[in-house]
Amino acid sequence: MSRTPDCIIIGGGLIGMLTARELLRGGLSVQLLERGETGRESSWAGGGILSPLYPWRYPDAVSVLARASQRVYPALVDALCEEGGGDAEWTQSGLLMAACEDIDAARAWAARFEVNLQVLAADEVTGCAPELGEQVSGSGEAVFLPEVAQVRNPRLVQALRASLLALGADIRQDCEVVAILNEAGRATAVQTKQGERFAAGHIVIAGGAWSANLLAPLGLTLPVSPVRGQMLLFRTEPGTVKRILLYKDRYVIPRRDGRVLVGSTLEHVGFDKQITAIAREELVASALEIVPALAHFPVEKHWAGLRPGSPDGTPFIGRHPEISNLYVNAGHYRNGVVLGPASAALLAATLLGLPPEVAPAAYLPARCVNSG
Ligand SMILES: Cc1cc2nc3c(=O)[nH]c(=O)nc-3n(C[C@H](O)[C@H](O)[C@H](O)COP(=O)(O)OP(=O)(O)OC[C@H]3O[C@@H](n4cnc5c(N)ncnc54)[C@H](O)[C@@H]3O)c2cc1C
Repeated sequence: MSRTPDCIIIGGGLIGMLTARELLRGGLSVQLLERGETGRESSWAGGGILSPLYPWRYPDAVSVLARASQRVYPALVDALCEEGGGDAEWTQSGLLMAACEDIDAARAWAARFEVNLQVLAADEVTGCAPELGEQVSGSGEAVFLPEVAQVRNPRLVQALRASLLALGADIRQDCEVVAILNEAGRATAVQTKQGERFAAGHIVIAGGAWSANLLAPLGLTLPVSPVRGQMLLFRTEPGTVKRILLYKDRYVIPRRDGRVLVGSTLEHVGFDKQITAIAREELVASALEIVPALAHFPVEKHWAGLRPGSPDGTPFIGRHPEISNLYVNAGHYRNGVVLGPASAALLAATLLGLPPEVAPAAYLPARCVNSG
């Protein structure tokens, strides 16, 4: 790309890449600047469940985006596959939340968002998920969301990258933005660590857990900070686990090839992505409690990622309050995979001046400007 692009996107995670795709499809030229390799941070580390866990415990703004994304996911995954990026394995496994205490809140939320929700008595839980440990299945009423799906997020980010290249994006890896230059209320260029400057008509910050660092010098204290999550991967026979199973905030996710993910920890340890022996022990214990049969299979991998934590899980999507061509799409916390497509569509509609499908007010970055 030799001319100045219409838009620079800072950050090549799922959020940055989905945003890039929307803008390219809207007719803009896009340059995507990624500090490392695209899709290798939180978007790789995540579980790919296409629903928040206990969704009724989040603000409605999160459910609004989740519902909008859930509607488009099957077509998105199909389109990426047809474009040659590979299959991200959208699979409707259903989500069973065992021993739920706030059933009334769950029912009210399901009615409000027209979600198919079933409350299962302890003796019905085993029929739904025979793999569940007896202690867990017998420990009270469960909530089952049969329509919840998952994607294999590492494959999704690979497919997205292929799609962006096919659509003509200029992707620069190993390219860290260290500053955004602005003049008279407009962002003029970005400065990279490697000493280059890139100009563009619009700039979007989609830097995940690192987004606040770029905004602090620009008068916006974005309350987005890293929350470490550790995960384990068991290698099992296909069919060992059939549903996504959640118990006491720990979950197992069955992939089509028999691999089973177990997650996850919530740790406030700054930008530290180390894995720890204690987390491994805890995750193994949770895994065996939820599905005792996992004791027969080896742990193949253990990793950690940094979620872009935000105060109540509602992401920041929209224009900078004082810099007219600077935008933010960040802070998706535990739900960036499920919220991604609708978040990208909302940001693109704002930037392109099109009517958004989702009302933008709840997500505006201006909501965190200090009035005092
Ligand atoms: C263990 C775990 C389990 C999860 N499970 C789920 C789940 O089941 N379902 C779900 O919906 N969500 C899940 N999530 C959350 C989800 O993964 C994140 O919300 C989502 O990936 C955030 O995407 P992102 O693009 O904002 O961030 P990231 O994927 O972290 O991408 C940000 C990118 O920006 C780049 N970057 C940062 N600063 C700069 C800079 N200055 N210059 C250039 N590039 C920069 C980074 O290198 C990175 O590649 C999980 C997360 C974790 C860690």
